Amino acid sequence: MRRKMIAGNWKMHGTKEFTKKFISDLETWLDSEETGIKVSEAIEDKEMEVVIAPPFTALDCAVFSRITGKIRIAAQNAYHERKGAFTGEISFPMLEELRCKYVIIGHSERRHIFGESNKILEKKLIAALESHILPIFCVGELLSERESGNMEKVLAEQLSSAWWSLTSDVVAEMVVIAYEPVWAIGTGKTASSEDADDACDYIRSLAFDKFGAATSDSIRILYGGSVKPENSRDLLSRENIDGLLIGGASLEVSSFKKIIESAL
Ligand code: PEP
Repeated sequence: MRRKMIAGNWKMHGTKEFTKKFISDLETWLDSEETGIKVSEAIEDKEMEVVIAPPFTALDCAVFSRITGKIRIAAQNAYHERKGAFTGEISFPMLEELRCKYVIIGHSERRHIFGESNKILEKKLIAALESHILPIFCVGELLSERESGNMEKVLAEQLSSAWWSLTSDVVAEMVVIAYEPVWAIGTGKTASSEDADDACDYIRSLAFDKFGAATSDSIRILYGGSVKPENSRDLLSRENIDGLLIGGASLEVSSFKKIIESAL
């Protein structure tokens, strides 16, 4: 059974104060309320992971304000070079020092607002793995690409460019893929659970073609795009969706908790 992942991407939101309070409220729930305790048991039994990705400035606060190890911390990005004259960038060894477990790579906002290419994202993926920070690698098509029947082509290009040099063991054990159709991110338009599952199934078939059955059975594939407490259970009930990457609805403990509960 693949371990479910519920991951909150805070984007450019969240001060240190906000982060401390969020973690404290979430940990209190995990330790004291009935559903929180069930989630804690699922985490301990390795059936579920709960991840939050605050901005860089709050990462140390997130990592060190946790009292238990139940919440994992992810960075939202990093640069592939280890050090050097790259003003404004953060390297993977810097994230390693902060004890970040995961890093989001290739989020559509990085691809489309900051112009990150498949080539750069391949380098970032490799650099993350070299630093033993587990990548949550995002892929997804634009609305125009879906409407012109090119969704599969786009996903295949994004993935083949990213993982061509990786081994099946590394992909199976260390890489998480997030399918995030660009037209569903922050727009309130969620892909139907059937469409999301079909796209995740297609991604799994790409993993099968490249790495074989063991990897395609074990790789975790998340869905992201306007996930809310009202649609999370339906999405998570689908065979190929192993978790959710959540933007807006991860910024309030109350809605994030409801989404986590729906993974039980
Ligand atoms: C995201 O940021 O990855 C995301 C899916 O955002 P939202 O849930 O707000 O659509």
